[in-house]
Amino acid sequence: MAIVATCPSCGESVLATHANYSCRKCVQRLPEDILRRLPAFGGSGAFIDARPSDSASTTTLSSSPVVNRYRDAYRVANALVGLGNGLKILGPCLAGAIILLSISMADKLGALALGAIIPAGIPGVLFWIAGVIFAAQGQLVQATLDSAVASSPFLTDSERADVMGLPPIISSS
Ligand SMILES: [Zn+2]
Repeated sequence: MAIVATCPSCGESVLATHANYSCRKCVQRLPEDILRRLPAFGGSGAFIDARPSDSASTTTLSSSPVVNRYRDAYRVANALVGLGNGLKILGPCLAGAIILLSISMADKLGALALGAIIPAGIPGVLFWIAGVIFAAQGQLVQATLDSAVASSPFLTDSERADVMGLPPIISSS
């Protein structure tokens, strides 16, 4: 018979057929969250170990190879998004620097230097476009990974939250 939980007082297994408020071995009243999972009290009968040591281990990082594989892929995606956002900032900065330089040289070179303002905009726009493309690629990879992680049967909910970089509280609520 399926075990739903273990008694926090004596460690005795609480079976899915259990229909009593107290443990069958030590006769201590079972915690509310164990009772709620029992089919006799309207629960699903799914096993969740209620011992205190196990509630702590759910928040630690998983070393499953599947988790590491996705974590690496997320790092690549995040790096792409970061690179794209960096290029988006670098473009206008570069254009601004060229424009300022040409204005500062305008009194020496005259109208010739002012002619640099328009070409200065070109690398700025190119960098910005490249940044948008990189960031979009990174976000596409993130979205692909999100759906792969969400549908993977080899991961638990807390591992999914961990891999996606979400706080573990999301998976337990
Ligand atoms: Zn007990």
